[in-house]
Formats: sequence, structure tokens, C-alpha cells
Amino acid sequence: MKQYVTEHQSPYLDLSAEVSEVLYKGKSEFQDIEVVESKEFGRMLVLDGVFQTSIKDEFMYHEMIAHIPLFLHPNPKNVLIIGGGDGGAAREVVRHPEVEKVTMVDIDGKVIELSKKYFPEIAKAMLENNPKLTVKVGDGIGFMAQAEAYYDVIIVDCSDPIGPGEGLFTYEFYKNTYKALKPDGLFVQQTESPFMHQPLIQKIWKSVSEIFPITRLYTTFIPLYPSGMHCFTIGSKKYDPLTWKPNRAQTFKTRYYNEGIQRSAFVLPNFVKELLYGE
Ligand code: SAM
Repeated sequence: MKQYVTEHQSPYLDLSAEVSEVLYKGKSEFQDIEVVESKEFGRMLVLDGVFQTSIKDEFMYHEMIAHIPLFLHPNPKNVLIIGGGDGGAAREVVRHPEVEKVTMVDIDGKVIELSKKYFPEIAKAMLENNPKLTVKVGDGIGFMAQAEAYYDVIIVDCSDPIGPGEGLFTYEFYKNTYKALKPDGLFVQQTESPFMHQPLIQKIWKSVSEIFPITRLYTTFIPLYPSGMHCFTIGSKKYDPLTWKPNRAQTFKTRYYNEGIQRSAFVLPNFVKELLYGE
């Protein structure tokens, strides 16, 4: 009999992937965790029934959440990642020669442990004990509340706004994120699908634009995620993605990201503009 892993993307829509093997199925203190070998996407991480990452398309997500904000900043030295327990964002961030220090704070030590075991390609920087990277197990909400004017770039690589990730989508969290950034700092957060999650995106946009002088949204394709159309929201104190010019050479190879995408990702379809700016 065929086996499937299913994400309920909406009350009316499921995405199921045929699975050849269930490698892990358990519960941490915070969430249900599954690692499966799927036939279409390769190995997949599933938290609370939501698809988080897959071997086949992870490069699209991790390159886009890391390189867009890092190349927007002319000299990112200190980077904070909230969430990102699979290690994919950290793997991309440490590739930037300008980056000196990366702190990653994920609430769930079990996700980190399982990612190292089952996703060595994604967890590479953690497995190799990259000297730039410090991994902390803790709540990103409390961590952010205590940080002050320290980071150049903050990456919020969080799960959906349910369960432990809920508090990472609040006005108070964005206020603390502003406070944790240097005077020219910027942050990015994965903000779900502009096709499927419109009220959430509007709520995030409203909060971030009340706090940050520059708020921008960019889109990309992530086949595993609802509708395949995903977006990220940037709050920036100084650097505007819409007037970006290359400020340094890219010294490493990427499979998705390039200079053209750094610009074009911010060109929005009309229905997304309407969602953010109204008529
Ligand atoms: N790429 C993914 C997506 O968009 O679905 C996100 C992947 S990453 C695995 C999400 C991580 O956020 C998980 O490891 C989870 O433990 C972590 N997380 C959720 N709530 C958190 C919180 N309050 N503080 C820190 N990490 C949190």
C-alpha cells in the first residue's frame, strides 16, 4: 500500500507526497516532528504537519532568505538567525566573507539534532562547527527582547504563525527586532504565500511599516510551499532594495540567487501591490 505525508494547506486543500520511508516520527517539547523520504521531493522535514524543507527545493528558500538581505547590506558582519533549526539559512550566511559572526537561536533542540542526522547537506555549517556560527537553543522572542543595537542583519527563518512560532509575527516582536539592529541594520522574515495567506501578510506589513522607515516585500518560487508562490518581508533602517546597486562581488556559486533576482524579486504583481498599498 502506498504511504503519503500530507499538509493541510487550507481547510479545502491538501498537498500529499508519496513516501518511500518514514525515517523519524516523534514529538519534541514544542512540536510533532517527522522526517520522511518522499519520492518527488527527496527527504523532507515536517513540523506539526507542515512541510518545512526538502532536499529537492531547499536551495530556493535558503538562498533567497539569506542572500537577498545580506547583499542588500554593504557590510554585514554580525548576523542573527531566529529559527532556522535545519541549518540551511546558516549554511548560506557563513559563505559571505564579510560575515564574522552568526548567532542562530532555535527553540527546538530536537529539530537541530534531527537535521544534523538526516539532512547533513542542509545542516552543513552546524555539522562542520563553522567557526563563525554559534547555535543556541532558546526562544527567539525572549532572545530578541534582550538584544540591543548589535546586529547588521536579522533573518527570521520561522515556522508558520501557529505553535511556538506564533509570537514571531507580532508588533512587539518587530519592535524588539528594530531595537536589536544597528542604526543601518535590516531584517527579513519568511511571510508565507501572497496567494494563500493575504490577511497575515497585511497584518505583518502594517506592523513592520509602522516601525521601520523602509518596508519591502519580495517573492520567489518554493514548490513545496502553499501555492508555490512565497514571500519575504524586509524591514530596513537605511538600505532600500528598490535602489540597490551591486556593492561587492559574489565569491561563491548559487543555484537560484543572482544579481538580476536581487532586483527582480522586488517587482510585484498588481494583486500583491494592491494587497500592500491598496488601490
Ligand atoms: N523554511 C521553513 C518554513 O518556511 O516552513 C522554516 C524552517 S525552520 C525548520 C523553522 C524553525 O523555527 C523550526 O526549527 C522551529 O523550531 C523554529 N521556531 C519556531 N518558533 C520559534 C521561536 N519562538 N523561537 C525560535 N525558533 C522557533
